Amino acid sequence: MKIYADNAATTKMSQTAIDAMMPYITDYFGNPSSLYSEGQKAREAIEKARSQIGRCIGAEPWEIIFTSGGSESDNQAILTAARLGEKTGKKHIVSDTIEHHAVLHTLKKLEKNGFDVTYVDAGENGIVNAADIDAAIREDTCLVTVMFANNEIGTIQPVAEIGRICRSRGVLFHTDAVQAAGHLPVNVKELNVDMLSASAHKFRGPKGTGFLYVRKGIKPCVLIEGGAQERGRRAGTENVPGIVAMAAAFEEAASSIDRINPSIIRMRDKIIEGLSEIPHSALNGDRTRRLPGNISFCFEGIEGESLLLLLDDKGISASSGSACTSGSLDPSHALLAIGRVHDVAHGSLRLTIDESIGDEEADYIVASVKSVVEYLRSFSPVWRDLVSGKTDFIL
Ligand SMILES: *Cc1c(COP(=O)(O)O)cnc(C)c1O
Repeated sequence: MKIYADNAATTKMSQTAIDAMMPYITDYFGNPSSLYSEGQKAREAIEKARSQIGRCIGAEPWEIIFTSGGSESDNQAILTAARLGEKTGKKHIVSDTIEHHAVLHTLKKLEKNGFDVTYVDAGENGIVNAADIDAAIREDTCLVTVMFANNEIGTIQPVAEIGRICRSRGVLFHTDAVQAAGHLPVNVKELNVDMLSASAHKFRGPKGTGFLYVRKGIKPCVLIEGGAQERGRRAGTENVPGIVAMAAAFEEAASSIDRINPSIIRMRDKIIEGLSEIPHSALNGDRTRRLPGNISFCFEGIEGESLLLLLDDKGISASSGSACTSGSLDPSHALLAIGRVHDVAHGSLRLTIDESIGDEEADYIVASVKSVVEYLRSFSPVWRDLVSGKTDFIL
């Protein structure tokens, strides 16, 4: 059996998105800034995509800026607030400990440039407390940035509550909604967000395309200087096929949420239940307030990397928060932030499923993980020390 269970890393492009983009690769290849008809066709397609995306999140078309993806959107949002803050002497930002590196590294850079950042603790369940955000806001706070849903442990943050708090205290609020957009209902008006980041390849659109919502009245900073594209807010010839495909994928994903989420949640819960039977294991993040497709576990006495390789042999593509695989020796900052110690965080597994997973696939996943964990423990010195009582079990 072949099972792709790493949709938080990236998704397979939908046929709708591929069909939508093809004419803009073949016939309508013109530069959207050109006046002849090939160019104007491309221009019209971009503006249609802007309206489509705006409609899906409750925004006006021109509140949407097309970017190269989630990372760029996060950077532009945070730097927009920072530049505005600098002008008014407000150089404090509130965020949290489990943000994506696109947010955390941008904040680190600002800290080197005289900004002060408060990182609110996400707690053991991986959910930021809105009251803690409220308490962290100061006179000189220019931005609160808290993600909509976490990419590793899948927890959903109380963004509507945080939005209400920020609006009432007059502080800008940005949310990295890369994992939520297309998977959960997202409405910028209901959430009171001022800026919101999304990325096409996380909702079955193409890689290298994303968008940033910036509420009317806020002047975005410019990261990429050059031509007057995107009304001077982001220079560079537009990625026409990418933008068209992103809008098609987003519309399809957003309109499928009610139909597909119940079955994804059912399969998620079935897998969680099955994996919970493994001794000395633990689910990461809140049991219910999590993304429909996210299953994140720690297993004591094993290494996540070996687990992934053996699952790959069984046809299952998954991911681990511990990350020799992602080029770093440190376990995931999100796992450490919710209190997993290094050794435990190293034995982590993230499965992120979509609607293609049915009962048969779910059963296969559970059986495979169970047998691989058992196999790895059978020759793990760490496990031997645990069962012999030389070291104490944590989970
Ligand atoms: C994937 C991801 C990003 C980065 O998006 P790219 O389009 O790959 O740059 C940012 N934030 C979160 C939460 C993500 O999951």
